[in-house]
Amino acid sequence: MTTRNTSKSKVAAAKSSRGSLLSIVVPVFNEESTIGLFVSAVTPFLDEACKLLGKGGQTEIVFVDDGSRDQTIERITAQNVKNCTIRIVKLSRNFGKDSALAAGLDQARGDAVVPMDVDLQDPPEVLPKMVAAWLAGSKVVNAVRVDRDADSWFKRSSAEAFYKIYNRISAQPMEPNVGDYRLLDREIVDILKKMPERTRFMKGLFSWLGYNPHTIEYQRQARIAGETKWRFWSLWNFAIDGITGSSTLPLRVWSYFGGVLAIIALFYAAWLMIRTLVFGVDVPGYASLMVVTLTLGSVNMIALGIVGEYVGRIAIEVRQRPLYIVEDSIEVSAEK
Ligand code: UDP
Ligand code: MG
Repeated sequence: MTTRNTSKSKVAAAKSSRGSLLSIVVPVFNEESTIGLFVSAVTPFLDEACKLLGKGGQTEIVFVDDGSRDQTIERITAQNVKNCTIRIVKLSRNFGKDSALAAGLDQARGDAVVPMDVDLQDPPEVLPKMVAAWLAGSKVVNAVRVDRDADSWFKRSSAEAFYKIYNRISAQPMEPNVGDYRLLDREIVDILKKMPERTRFMKGLFSWLGYNPHTIEYQRQARIAGETKWRFWSLWNFAIDGITGSSTLPLRVWSYFGGVLAIIALFYAAWLMIRTLVFGVDVPGYASLMVVTLTLGSVNMIALGIVGEYVGRIAIEVRQRPLYIVEDSIEVSAEK
């Protein structure tokens, strides 16, 4: 209780000396059609949030350009916003949304940081509510989608199946239907920045942190313009990253499977021996031999493949390459 009070009073002292800063981190990849719509939709709510922050309160939007090949950067630099700082962190190529998000979290200077999608699927009207909950003392404020009608049937049902499997096998279950849209206190951002893994599965990292988040519900909207960057294959890889990143059960399960199979094989072998001794040699057996060989062969390959998934990730981790490369940082507008 004492530590809690101390850290709270420290935060309060920091806030009163220079006012709080709210950072919005927005990864963008080929989003020329959504930038303008996003900025004009989000700024009124940033103003509202700024008022909640009180005297000296400020807001900034950090766009992380994840290797766009269209006019995304030009569209951002063309924005003329008065009471909010806009910065662009330009990555040297497309590193994927989670790495872009990590870059944004590293660059954000806010006392509270909110990662947000640019396509307005994360409604900006939730922002002031998040800030209010943060000011009331919550270090993590989750925005939970109450209905995902805007997503396709396939995306909804595959997401549902994924959450079910994930929560069953990982030690720290995650709340279904929470995306990356959430408010993080500076303390949490600093912890996340220290997490060294290359395979970033942000939702898994957040649930691993704990902190008993405050939740705010919202309706998931359809994408306002442009199109989703997720294809079936990237969602599949994302799901595998999520599971291998937080559980070793898929690796361990094979020793049990092998054990059970060995016991069955032992009984079967004993029965075969007795049968041969009693009834003599029974030569025809091609079909049963084939079935056993093929089944065991394929099961072996699946097990090896799963081991390969982990070994591949270990190889990536030991190389220790940076998660992303910042090619340029551009200051678009500074608060006046
Ligand atoms: N995004 C990114 N890098 C990528 C793919 C996506 O920075 O490689 C950004 C994209 O510009 C958007 C956000 O991540 O701001 C969410 O992407 P999208 O809307 O395509 O995903 P969905 O909402 O369909 O899951
Ligand atoms: Mg989207």
